[in-house]
Amino acid sequence: MIHGKTLEAWQASHPLLAELLALRETNWFNPACVPVATALEDVGLDAEDVAQASARLRRFAPYLAKVFPQTAEAGGIIESPLQPVDELRRHLLQEAGLSAGGSMWLKMDGELPISGSIKARGGIHEVLKHAEELALQAGLITLDDDYARLDSDEARRFFGQYKVAVGSTGNLGLSIGIMSAKLGFQATVHMSSDARQWKKDKLRASGVAVVEYDSDYSVAVEQGRRQAESDPRCYFVDDENSPHLFLGYAVAAERLARQFEREGVRVDAEHPLFVYLPCGVGGGPGGVAFGLKLAFGDAVHCFFAEPTHSPCMLLGVYTGLHDRISVQELGIDNVTAADGLAVGRPSGFVGKAMQRLIDGYYTVDDDTLFRLLATANALEGVRLEPSALAGVPGMQRVLRDDGYLARIGASEARLERATHLVWATGGSMVPEPVFAGYLEKGRSLL
Ligand SMILES: *Cc1c(COP(=O)(O)O)cnc(C)c1O
Repeated sequence: MIHGKTLEAWQASHPLLAELLALRETNWFNPACVPVATALEDVGLDAEDVAQASARLRRFAPYLAKVFPQTAEAGGIIESPLQPVDELRRHLLQEAGLSAGGSMWLKMDGELPISGSIKARGGIHEVLKHAEELALQAGLITLDDDYARLDSDEARRFFGQYKVAVGSTGNLGLSIGIMSAKLGFQATVHMSSDARQWKKDKLRASGVAVVEYDSDYSVAVEQGRRQAESDPRCYFVDDENSPHLFLGYAVAAERLARQFEREGVRVDAEHPLFVYLPCGVGGGPGGVAFGLKLAFGDAVHCFFAEPTHSPCMLLGVYTGLHDRISVQELGIDNVTAADGLAVGRPSGFVGKAMQRLIDGYYTVDDDTLFRLLATANALEGVRLEPSALAGVPGMQRVLRDDGYLARIGASEARLERATHLVWATGGSMVPEPVFAGYLEKGRSLL
């Protein structure tokens, strides 16, 4: 029994479950998606909250520029480039037998400095928020100070009295761990069995304690939560429920809007924007999508992409059970090479907050991810980790669904003027031999 119903009864009321159970690549365009004006209040956060997160990142920029020299050129602002990918676009259209035009771009979050994934947005913001609160309370800084002064032995000794803990499949651990250790915190990362060895090695080399579990993400998070509960000096970064992670991700949108402006890319009712976001627990894609809805309103259409073996957000929103159901309860194993997306139970906060603002969800097979990894590397020279490819097939899924396109009023003329943005969430820090293995696997599948 699953929440009072047999699996058969669930399948009868929710026909798409058969596709998920069979591990087939699936799309679901949510009929309950409504205009921004109606659904924004579901989130419980607003534009002012995002503006505050953005201002906090600017206050810390001089500090970041000093302690992470790779951010100095950008003045300590952690941001990624936008890359046009016309060859890849042509390939995808041809493969799917589609002719619609529009343009396609990659948002290269794999190149974000410090931790090389989308987690450098939310994770670093949350550590900085906590550090700022402590430092302000202790009188170590004021809001008007140059935060570069936090690069001092005094500040590191101060933060050294406190601990930060997090549970992660890898990339969030990298962000939280590296940022916390740099400030002087005692950092512990609880890693799920999916976590790659190189990520653990990198953390230990940065002075972070890594605890390894032989189980999945939810268990690693639970252990982190427990460590913090028993210790008042320990701050737990709650990937399943954190508004501060969410807001850190959301800041991406105002910066993207400026990048589009510089590139001459228009986004409005006549120039729709489709964004494809790889989804694990949901905080990263949810926060970015929230920011995008604030920045572009109903002109932006957001989609979450998940592995066929870990379709937790699709399952949670589709059944309305959110974090009360895991993929494992349906017999889906949550085993995928897309380690950043290997999550069996979605964030309840994000699912409920964003369900009326997300146009659709789809799943991608691991073999598809590897094939696309090799194709994107060959055509565009990009270096992405498997999770980061999940957004690539999104354009095909959308352009093939006439029912959905009719519902949103996407005429052929509008589709010709559309922009498709794939959020390429990680990859630049993957060690060369590991990446070579990914490439070889992808090429063998072509
Ligand atoms: C974490 C992660 C995601 C998804 O973010 P969630 O907040 O877990 O949904 C996507 N891609 C990569 C590479 C990640 O590390």
